[in-house]
Amino acid sequence: MLKSTTHVLTRRFLLSNQDVRQIGTAAEVARQRRSLKDRVAVITASTDGIGFAMAQRLAVDGAHVVISSRHQKNVDEALAKLKSEGLSVSGMVCHAGVKEDRTRLLEKTAAEFGGFDILISNAAVNPDSGRLMKCTEEVWDKIFDTNVKSSFFLAKEALPHMEKRGKASIIFISSIGGYLPNCGVEFMGAYALSKTALLGLTKLMAMELGPRGIRVNCICPGLIETRFGDVITGDKRTPKIMRDNCPMQRNGRPEEMAGLASFLASDDSSYITGENIVAAGGIQSSF
Ligand code: NAP
Repeated sequence: MLKSTTHVLTRRFLLSNQDVRQIGTAAEVARQRRSLKDRVAVITASTDGIGFAMAQRLAVDGAHVVISSRHQKNVDEALAKLKSEGLSVSGMVCHAGVKEDRTRLLEKTAAEFGGFDILISNAAVNPDSGRLMKCTEEVWDKIFDTNVKSSFFLAKEALPHMEKRGKASIIFISSIGGYLPNCGVEFMGAYALSKTALLGLTKLMAMELGPRGIRVNCICPGLIETRFGDVITGDKRTPKIMRDNCPMQRNGRPEEMAGLASFLASDDSSYITGENIVAAGGIQSSF
């Protein structure tokens, strides 16, 4: 069957046998570029929500994924679920805001696998930041420490373990709120600003790390149905904001962020760095 189809194609489009062989090769090259086989990924805040969906997808696409979050119970439950699906995963406790936890996560992973290729910095806090002008110094510090400072130092501390592998991809998780800090003005305040900072961090790190062969990109989710997102989806003002601003007229789901993360981790995105990519159902994302 395959032979006769090939024969017809060869005659109709005047393909040489060499062209036919190249089409076969191109298909295999495409599969390899998309695959995460033999890659190791470290993902923070990955026992639930968007981080969990990304961990699941990267593992399905061939990577070994090291998951983490603050609570051992959550790590154990997430590992059990992923392993029951036959996926290659391991995990440990890591509070992304605690330097010792970050060091343990990175060094234990590097010791076990000889380094790692993919880092997704997903952890963030939004302790009901409310209106910007009501933000206290304590709340400001908590938000910026976890969302910006820890993201930067996690990535910086990971570099020695990633660089030598040759295909390093760092992915930050910002938010549509980073582009539109005034969109959820009542409830996002300093949190949105911290996500704006990640857009700049992505650009600057990509510039400095490009010559070292390390790509840095960022995903900016819209309103996604997770426990974290509940603060916003549960607010009575949100449906109108979504009706007025979201062409797709619905919230997103964690798995709708996962394919994008896998793409940014793979060779399919090998010429993409320094980009903040919005996945927000069409909500406008320019300043
Ligand atoms: P989520 O469903 O609430 O998941 C939170 C996960 O993070 C859990 O695994 C939790 O486990 C872990 N976690 C929380 N704080 C942590 C910390 N300090 N260190 C390590 N792990 C921590 O959250 P999500 O909605 O998926 O949010 C993930 C990322 O997407 C965040 O960066 C968020 O800003 C961003 N985002 C979300 C939305 C949205 O609408 N949901 C929109 C835009 C951007 P433990 O409790 O065990 O730590």
